[in-house]
Amino acid sequence: MGDELIELAIERLREGFPSKSRSWVRRALVRFMKNTVKEFSENVWVVKGLPELGDKYPTYVVRLRDGRYYCSCFESSWGLRRKSEICTHIAAVILYRNYKRLDSDVYASVVNIECTDYYLEIPSEFRGRVKVVKSVRVVDSSDRLNPRHRVTYVIYASEPMEIKAKLACDGNVRELNLKLSRTRRYIVELLTRD
Ligand SMILES: [Zn+2]
Repeated sequence: MGDELIELAIERLREGFPSKSRSWVRRALVRFMKNTVKEFSENVWVVKGLPELGDKYPTYVVRLRDGRYYCSCFESSWGLRRKSEICTHIAAVILYRNYKRLDSDVYASVVNIECTDYYLEIPSEFRGRVKVVKSVRVVDSSDRLNPRHRVTYVIYASEPMEIKAKLACDGNVRELNLKLSRTRRYIVELLTRD
């Protein structure tokens, strides 16, 4: 498994549950790395129990309903106590889903520029099908009112395509022929991570 990919998947899990302890994250990671999560059907996963993590059953069923996760361990004798928490079976499922999403294919093109003023225009016919994310860093702030930026645009979509876009950089406008080629989702996230 790619280290950066799993790191990003964990980062996303932490962002979703900032108050959870390190041991909660660690247990979710153990479950995930031991390959205990299997997709059963849409919004249903089966998680193999791990006795070393205190599991009493060979399998647990996690369901996603109306945006909320439910685990069959809620129905056990500890259920009442656990219901208010997000168990690590659920955390393992979330980690699994994060990982799968980050591991999926996207089609992307990257544009790097250094300018004070910048703008990227994607033709409106691509609206809804194409996403643009950017990361901006100040590289020169000697002119405080007009700092110079290094900008990375990532233009991506779920299918390959070619886009004629317009890029303005400090009053220079040029036409770009963007060819979105296959990569993986986590690469897009790495490129635009601050
Ligand atoms: Zn559970």
